[in-house]
Amino acid sequence: MAEAKRDYYEVLGVSRDADDAAIKKAYRALAKKYHPDMNPGDKEAEKKFKEASEAYAVLSDSEKRRQYDQFGHAAFEGGAGGAGGFGGFDFNGADFSDIFGDIFGDLFGGSRRSGRAGNGPMKGANIRKSIRITFEEAVFGCEKELDLILKDPCEDCHGTGAKPGTSPETCPKCGGRGQVVYTSQSFFGTVQNVQTCPNCGGSGKIIKEKCSKCAGTGYTSSRKKIKVTVPAGIDNGQSIRIRDKGEPGVNGGPRGDLLVEVNVSHHPIFQRQDVHIFSTVPISFAVAALGGDIRIKTVDGDVIYNVKPGTKTDTKVRLKGKGVPSLRNSQVRGDHYVTLVIQTPERLSAEAKEALRRFDELSGNTLHQNDDEGNGDKTDKGEKKKKKGFMEKMKEAFEDN
Ligand SMILES: [Zn+2]
Ligand SMILES: [Zn+2]
Repeated sequence: MAEAKRDYYEVLGVSRDADDAAIKKAYRALAKKYHPDMNPGDKEAEKKFKEASEAYAVLSDSEKRRQYDQFGHAAFEGGAGGAGGFGGFDFNGADFSDIFGDIFGDLFGGSRRSGRAGNGPMKGANIRKSIRITFEEAVFGCEKELDLILKDPCEDCHGTGAKPGTSPETCPKCGGRGQVVYTSQSFFGTVQNVQTCPNCGGSGKIIKEKCSKCAGTGYTSSRKKIKVTVPAGIDNGQSIRIRDKGEPGVNGGPRGDLLVEVNVSHHPIFQRQDVHIFSTVPISFAVAALGGDIRIKTVDGDVIYNVKPGTKTDTKVRLKGKGVPSLRNSQVRGDHYVTLVIQTPERLSAEAKEALRRFDELSGNTLHQNDDEGNGDKTDKGEKKKKKGFMEKMKEAFEDN
């Protein structure tokens, strides 16, 4: 309260009933004009920028704006009349960085944020790798080993890149900000460009004497074997995150992660959809007709399944719990769906053929009936002649095989 504060609406140059869009627009224009990056060393601009930012922080927040409308600046000054207990307005609060992200996202094309991050602790980049496993390994889980080259912070310089006993100095060109502002004249007036500092490469620091072990890079690389535990039930294309096995962090930040994408090979007989397995099993005509035990391959090994007499082709059989374990709970497993497909015999011995003919006659004479339907000739002589011709053709057809 030492210095009389200007009215927030006056600062932004908007009316008291201005809507959010108008307030944002007004602030954007002022921020662009007075931003410190655009006015290096200009104290007056910096003051104006802060004043506008403070006004915006209050007026863009509906609750704060309501308090301000009611109590004026007193709303944010501890103890003074009005709304005691609200506490002081925190200029450096988290709200403010949100405003920056919002307002400056397009203004600086994101370079400001990355420039800032370059000076503070930053998480290392993630590393992506892939492994190939078999169908069964995906179902039951497995352990794999990845061979990769990992960077570690240099032991001699502890990641600074400076010779032990020395430390990196603040870059004189950018003052440690990692960015420099170039001013040029154009048709539209003075144009200012923010660029990565060429002197320090954006780090804000200069290493005079480089660490000999890491040649000033701050890290050393070595081949490492990383154990990858693949959980039962993983599916093709899913990734496993291994924390802290990525690139080292910057300026004391945490390491990135290792992301291992899992590629599952095709299986010759099993297909998979989520936790269920599908396969097709051929059965003979005799088994389909008479019933009987068949062997069905599952991921748990062969199971004996009893086919019921009179089973039709494409009959679906469910083998409960013979599917893939759920990734969330390996105790819960999907099912295995089997499609029974009746095989037509192709290579028959003479004896088998005779048996089949006999069967055909016994089971309602279908060969003859088909012939009758196609012909319509019911006279004894003609029928016999036709029958013989048809049987002959059948015989030829079988023998060709
Ligand atoms: Zn070093
Ligand atoms: Zn610099």
